Amino acid sequence: MTGTIRPSDVYRARRRIQPWIRPTPLIASTALSAIAKSDVFLKLEHLQITGSFKLRGATNAVLSLSDTQSRAGVVAVSTGNHGRSLAHAATRVGMRCAICMSNLVPDNKVEAIRALGADVRIIGHSQDEAQKEVERLVAAEGMVMLPPFDHPDIISGQGTLALEILEEQPALDTVLVPVSGGGLISGVAMVLKAANPNIRVIGISMERGAAMVASRRAGRPVEVEELESLADSLGGGIGIGNQYTFAMVGEFVDDLITVSETEIAAAIRHIYWTERQIVEGAGSVGVAALLSGRVRDAGTVVTILSGGNIDMELHNQLIGAEGVTYCAVGRQWDDAHA
Ligand SMILES: *Cc1c(COP(=O)(O)O)cnc(C)c1O
Repeated sequence: MTGTIRPSDVYRARRRIQPWIRPTPLIASTALSAIAKSDVFLKLEHLQITGSFKLRGATNAVLSLSDTQSRAGVVAVSTGNHGRSLAHAATRVGMRCAICMSNLVPDNKVEAIRALGADVRIIGHSQDEAQKEVERLVAAEGMVMLPPFDHPDIISGQGTLALEILEEQPALDTVLVPVSGGGLISGVAMVLKAANPNIRVIGISMERGAAMVASRRAGRPVEVEELESLADSLGGGIGIGNQYTFAMVGEFVDDLITVSETEIAAAIRHIYWTERQIVEGAGSVGVAALLSGRVRDAGTVVTILSGGNIDMELHNQLIGAEGVTYCAVGRQWDDAHA
């Protein structure tokens, strides 16, 4: 299956989506460079329109539909950022868009998607349950399902992020990529390895419910229990019938590592106070890996800050004045899991 997506698809995706997305800055972090004994750069993709990289894949997928498909409209299951991006991309071109999600998705994300004009449907406790409603809409109303990660046009769209990184910093040694279903890291790693096979691509997930890590360990896609996490955008399975991302991660990704809730909380706090950015949990896992010493002496490192759509009440709690606040919030969840 991996043969069906190529770097040339990513170049085509880039030309297609270029008028609709924003190139995002790459900035050096002196603080993280010192801590990790590396040259660390942050890819500020949380500044993307809609607040995450998912606009890249969603826009590429919407613009790749036939006229007949475009008239029927698109439907997706989403933990938030895919839904938000798809709603934005579809609404821009006047296309109908229904978004299905589980009740674990935070309210700020639900409202943001509704405000974009999408028909939001909240079903069940997991992404897999919400997926059943998508299948119903496809069968009953002929809508086109666009999944959040396991689709060639989505993966190619996400891969455009790597083209930007290579232009901004060609002398790369290591790239840290947040991983959930693996659409982002599949596209990014394929492009990076084609440019230079010596670039190390490391995927980062949260300890609580890392489906790709469990699947790689099992040697096949497996289900994991969905748990609440500060990195809520990394929740959900990779799909038992996974067609693309599991194999692509196996082919292109050097290592998968996990970080704890306490480490994610510390990273959100560091990114705010030291880097002066507001980034959600999922977007902070690479920084968590650097701060905790899991990645060090890694040469020129780029870590992708993949999204910024965090509930601001939670963010406010995490950056709180008392030095121990972040530990309290993170540890609560680490302890519940121990
Ligand atoms: C979706 C998402 C991820 C993970 O992307 P996958 O393609 O599912 O691996 C990481 N960070 C943010 C902010 C996301 O929205």
